[in-house]
Amino acid sequence: MPDIRYDDRVVLVTGAGGGLGKAYALFFASRGAAVVVNDLGVSRSGDGHSSKAADVVVDEIVRAGGKAVANYDSVNDGDRLVDTALKAFGRLDIIINNAGILRDKSFSRMTDQDWDLIQEVHLRGSYKVTKAAWETFRKQKYGRIIMTASAAGIYGNYGQANYSSAKLALASLGFTLAREGAKYNILCNTIAPVAASRMTESVMPPEFLPALKPEFVTGLVGLLCHDSSNESGGLFEVGAGWAGKLRWERSQGRVFKADPTTFTPTAVASAWEEITEITPAKPPVYPESMADTDWVGLLERAKEQ
Ligand code: NAD
Repeated sequence: MPDIRYDDRVVLVTGAGGGLGKAYALFFASRGAAVVVNDLGVSRSGDGHSSKAADVVVDEIVRAGGKAVANYDSVNDGDRLVDTALKAFGRLDIIINNAGILRDKSFSRMTDQDWDLIQEVHLRGSYKVTKAAWETFRKQKYGRIIMTASAAGIYGNYGQANYSSAKLALASLGFTLAREGAKYNILCNTIAPVAASRMTESVMPPEFLPALKPEFVTGLVGLLCHDSSNESGGLFEVGAGWAGKLRWERSQGRVFKADPTTFTPTAVASAWEEITEITPAKPPVYPESMADTDWVGLLERAKEQ
């Protein structure tokens, strides 16, 4: 297989001043893409504002002979990020929604501000950037989008009610955009990365950090954003040079007679094992879309109860 390149493609990477975003920006630039390096230059918790983070990465790309421009706006001003790409390079092909911050607190201590800010940067920010580019992608019949979720979103994590809910919502946004983008060759996938960055290095054992370089995530993102890929609507965990795809799995479940006098909490309790037993379902059920619930069949079976 020839080496994968992105010549003539324009990539917008949000939060590209450090960590994973910087690794993506350097990766795409080193393989021929023109890159918009967006970063608001905030602290880990979203305070402050600086142009330095983005400038340093742009300098590094340009010094290596690549093409890049900086953008210092918040992802909440998604149209400004997209404008930067269109003005500087005349087009936009790939969006890596990556910018992020943390405001970890147990749910009982979480303030409305902690909740709102995290939803705003992760979920609304990815929405605003992607929405600002959507018509361009539709018209040119080409687009590659990455949403950045987190294992915290997939599995839940103590102290991250704000962050985990925003992160799984991004996967869901990705599932829907994959469907709406399909006929326009707009592919959208979601990753839940693991990497040593300022966001995570204080919570990871120091001996693991060298194995968790952000560069060990770029291979998957690079393929998902390439012309040759037709993968869309996927959710992947990736880190330390490993990548794996996730899917839902549903138990066989139990059909009750569709009648409130028989489908009671007591009846549910008596069938609890059947409802909750995931393995082995016979046959296994791996729903991939809303259409994968056979309501007609279930109603037929309910009539037989
Ligand atoms: P990081 O803190 O190193 O980088 C995030 C960057 O986003 C920073 O440079 C920051 O200035 C920028 N940023 C923050 N708010 C912004 C805004 N409103 N507009 C523009 N830029 C903004 O963190 P990272 O570890 O590289 O994380 C990157 C993404 O990956 C985040 O979405 C994070 O939630 C996600 N993630 C990371 C890990 C991990 O193990 N590092 C795990 C799961 C998910």
